[in-house]
Amino acid sequence: VRWSEERGWHEAELRPYEPLVLDPATVGLHYGQAVFEGLKAFRSHTGSVGVFRPDAHARRMRASARRLMMPEPPEELFLAAVDALVAQDQQWIPDDPAISLYLRPLLFASERTLALRPAREYRFLLMAFVTEGYFGPAQRPVRVQVTETYSRAAAGGTGGAKCAGNYAGSLLPQAEAQEQGFDQVVWLDPVERRWVEELGGMNLFFVYGSGRDARLVTPPLSGSLLAGVTRDALLRLAPALGVPAAEEPMSLEEWRRGCAGGELTEVFACGTAARITPVGEVGSADGTWTIGDGTTGEVTTRLSDALFGIQRGELPDRWSWMRPVAPA
Ligand code: PMP
Repeated sequence: VRWSEERGWHEAELRPYEPLVLDPATVGLHYGQAVFEGLKAFRSHTGSVGVFRPDAHARRMRASARRLMMPEPPEELFLAAVDALVAQDQQWIPDDPAISLYLRPLLFASERTLALRPAREYRFLLMAFVTEGYFGPAQRPVRVQVTETYSRAAAGGTGGAKCAGNYAGSLLPQAEAQEQGFDQVVWLDPVERRWVEELGGMNLFFVYGSGRDARLVTPPLSGSLLAGVTRDALLRLAPALGVPAAEEPMSLEEWRRGCAGGELTEVFACGTAARITPVGEVGSADGTWTIGDGTTGEVTTRLSDALFGIQRGELPDRWSWMRPVAPA
């Protein structure tokens, strides 16, 4: 789909996956006026296909676009694109719960100019990829490293938007963490550098207590972390399973002390691509510590099963999160 000042949204079309032809002076390439989304289509145990919360992803893309002075794709246009592509490509989703169709909407400034102002032409693309989760179907606990050196977001910056540049700046810290044997970087708030925010592509949840006394905490939307759609789903799903969930600031110090004292029993990360991923170990400037016994916790497993149960159509979808799409 294209957008221009004169014509608005136009030329919606379904095309085979193919390279783009772009002018070397395409604004999106130079000034980073580009936002994207990531959402998934799942095959249910009965064989039908549903997309998880495409309306929420459409709204987040509109919010990201607003922050970057881009036209906001209407929700109906976003949903029509998802429906058309998933109707056509759902044959590629096998009946294997580990595999889903990852959808990547991308909106970028396609105008040819070097002028430093909001572009006057844009392209909205939607791609589909057959994928497994980041860490494979086994979901082993990951090791995370808190960075004291780098920031993902600046105060007043674009951390709350899903824009391309946020990820470019994360690559070096992520590579350095991996060199030191960690899977992911933990980002702290950019002002006090004291509050835990998120991982590179996942939000964080902390579990206090266990069994019937378990409760969840996730950092509040500070403006610099991304409002994950999975995070939002878990904030509603957990209480329905008897696990209260609250948005509360979590300091790095509290995290370390909670694990040392035993009251903080589990930590997991969540996101569309990563699903629910247990965190087993944390590295920081103050040393390394293990969460619980370093294996996947009981609450993490319960939430993961419940979320996946809804996505696979095995559990009631009481919030109407799944959008059914029939084959073309
Ligand atoms: N934080 C960041 C920085 C991300 O890129 C993502 C992935 N979109 C998330 C959190 C998780 O968001 P969601 O649950 O919507 O995939």
